[in-house]
Amino acid sequence: MRTLVTGGAGFLGSHLCERLLILGHDVVALDNMVTGRPSNVAHMVENPRFSLVNADLCDGIPVDGRFDRIFNLASPASPIDYVELPFETLYVGSDGTRHALERAVLDGARIMIASTSEVYGDPEVHPQVEGYWGNVNPIGPRSVYDEAKRFSEALAMAFARYKGCQVRIARIFNTYGPRMRSNDGRVIPAFVTQALAGEALTVFGEGAQTRSFCFVSDLIEGFIRLIESDYQLPVNLGNPIERSVLDLATRINSLVGNAAGVIHKPMPIDDPSRRRPDISLAKAELGWEPAVSFEDGLATTIRWFEAN
Ligand code: UDP
Repeated sequence: MRTLVTGGAGFLGSHLCERLLILGHDVVALDNMVTGRPSNVAHMVENPRFSLVNADLCDGIPVDGRFDRIFNLASPASPIDYVELPFETLYVGSDGTRHALERAVLDGARIMIASTSEVYGDPEVHPQVEGYWGNVNPIGPRSVYDEAKRFSEALAMAFARYKGCQVRIARIFNTYGPRMRSNDGRVIPAFVTQALAGEALTVFGEGAQTRSFCFVSDLIEGFIRLIESDYQLPVNLGNPIERSVLDLATRINSLVGNAAGVIHKPMPIDDPSRRRPDISLAKAELGWEPAVSFEDGLATTIRWFEAN
């Protein structure tokens, strides 16, 4: 198998590349390093079955030879990133996804599109099932990401319907683990970094909003199972255990032994009030469910941030 991972030097991309190498794939990671980092893949570059191509997917895929599998992960993915990179986010979701899908058709490759729980917006259906169409503000600050990913899904389905492309669509819920950037703004790296520095954790609003956090290795297992499955419609991949942001802050402070507590900051615009995946479909179609406990995943993540 020869496999392309767009966004291969990012948080999820680098873990996926690692896993694919273990499975025996030849792996090409394409990344423009806007939010990806060479250090995420530095330990793989000596491997003759791995190569890193520094290029922008919006300009095409400057790599020769046929691919068997394509994982399309390239995109800024943190709220502060996509608000700082609105055009990059919109264009990689549209032009970039188009290049990846066209390459899949050309090569006869299977392709997995990384979509997101953000397609559900601030959900009125809870937990979120794949059949729910979502409650997204199409013009708010988060829309550059949410609508780019909704467009990606529409484009992928059109390629499946009209071009016979073998498309798989993962709706990824909040994921955490080693190699997140401490300044990427997402809640777990933000809280862990603050706790390790002995600072108060910045809880937005009252902290009553909920999220469901999946450890990265569980998600990667879901990706592999999804691309090798025959299921062609979107599948939720996430951990269904839901907790509030305030509960998360309290746990991280106690695990790190941080006495500085929390400080409340204004709630970002359109921040979803709750989020939890219904993973019945992933269980039925992929035989997949998360295996790593929050305690273990968080301990691994804290150790990584301490060391890095
Ligand atoms: N959040 C917070 N403090 C922070 C960063 C995030 O309270 O320093 C909250 C944020 O408002 C949201 C939740 O944590 O309700 C998850 O935010 P994140 O940016 O990690 O992901 P997303 O909003 O995309 O789920």
